[in-house]
Amino acid sequence: MATLRVAVKPEAAPMKAAQISKPGADFELIERKIPEPGAGQVRIKVQACGVCHSDVLTKEGLWPGIQYPRVPGHEVAGVIDEVGAGVSAWKKGQRVGVGWHGGRDGTCRECQRGDFRNCQNLKIPGISYDGGYQQYMVAPVEALAAIPETLSDTEAAPLLCAGITTYNALRHSGAFPGDLVAVQGIGGLGHLGIQFANKFGYKVVAIGRGSENALLAKKLGASVYIDSGSTNAAEALQKLGGARVILATAPSSKAMSELIDGLGPNGKLVVIGAAGTSADSEDTLNFAELSGVRPMIETYPLEKAAEAYERMLSGKAQFRVVLTM
Ligand SMILES: [Zn+2]
Ligand SMILES: [Zn+2]
Repeated sequence: MATLRVAVKPEAAPMKAAQISKPGADFELIERKIPEPGAGQVRIKVQACGVCHSDVLTKEGLWPGIQYPRVPGHEVAGVIDEVGAGVSAWKKGQRVGVGWHGGRDGTCRECQRGDFRNCQNLKIPGISYDGGYQQYMVAPVEALAAIPETLSDTEAAPLLCAGITTYNALRHSGAFPGDLVAVQGIGGLGHLGIQFANKFGYKVVAIGRGSENALLAKKLGASVYIDSGSTNAAEALQKLGGARVILATAPSSKAMSELIDGLGPNGKLVVIGAAGTSADSEDTLNFAELSGVRPMIETYPLEKAAEAYERMLSGKAQFRVVLTM
């Protein structure tokens, strides 16, 4: 009797991912095939991924056109593990990060003007394609930022979103060294904003609620702390001469409008907006390495993605939550 022999190609080892199967669903820890990078893409062995408030867009299906299942995560730090066809500028083994700017078409009007962060077909990791809540992910080369040697993966991850937004807002704010710059809010964004503002050479005023953050604010580089719960912050700023820039990091229009009177002549209230490109990410990482700016983090293993997400939502984390693989 003849024996039928079937040659079976060995299945590639699966990997773990934390996905959302539909809008509003809980996190599911699944195993699936390790993805292959296409042309112009690399595969990243993810080491750490920040848990950001914007991940709510994926969890709750708040982004128009988002498709499911989807793996969230746009604060990714890892190592290139495979490169796709046509990739020459990046090599296997290189440490890279991916932030909010996850790819562009390169052809729309904005891209042709070099205004990549306003690309009409901007791709966002964790929304347009699967992000960093998994052991391996694929990303296009224009999304990659090189991670400097002395920054760890867990430190680099939050800098790719919370870091870049505060760093970019301050460096384009028009304030000069020695100017009075106020940072409103001492949280995930604010604790980085205070550090950057200090390292930029500003006189930094931190504005928070309650007295419990005063010590921390000074440790981070603020020379003055204003408790907006017990003091009129705008008047206090005026007594200091008025702020050249107020960086608003807590999304409260009431708190912001109350601060406007604290601005000096030609002063500017800067509201944190969209993150920049991968080039801005690299600038942020390099400046952090150079100056010693570091995020304060709480880490959770990927298996506890749901718990990590709840912790982020609670607003009690000190200050950024990061998943490790
Ligand atoms: Zn983010
Ligand atoms: Zn474009």
